[in-house]
Amino acid sequence: MRPSASHYAGGEYNRPHFLDSCTLCQKHLSQNSDIYMYRGNAPFCSQECRQEQIEMDEAKEKRWKISSSKRSSSVRQSKDSTTEESDTNKAVRTGTVAVA
Ligand SMILES: [Zn+2]
Repeated sequence: MRPSASHYAGGEYNRPHFLDSCTLCQKHLSQNSDIYMYRGNAPFCSQECRQEQIEMDEAKEKRWKISSSKRSSSVRQSKDSTTEESDTNKAVRTGTVAVA
């Protein structure tokens, strides 16, 4: 096993490939660039990409009904959500809703 492959080119065996590119836009992530992790295993090239993934996940989870804990630390949406309020009141008991 080689500890570090500095001229790693096209092999998928040295590093887990999920850390090679942005989960959302597939942009290559180099070790020198910032990587924004989400849920411990999803790397993103930017906060914007990560935020989009978070929003997609949340939309999905809302549809499935909120099951387990999620912590989205920085949800800052300019969306005004009046309909969401009743949702939140129900869901907040499960301790999973991050309200912007
Ligand atoms: Zn990206």
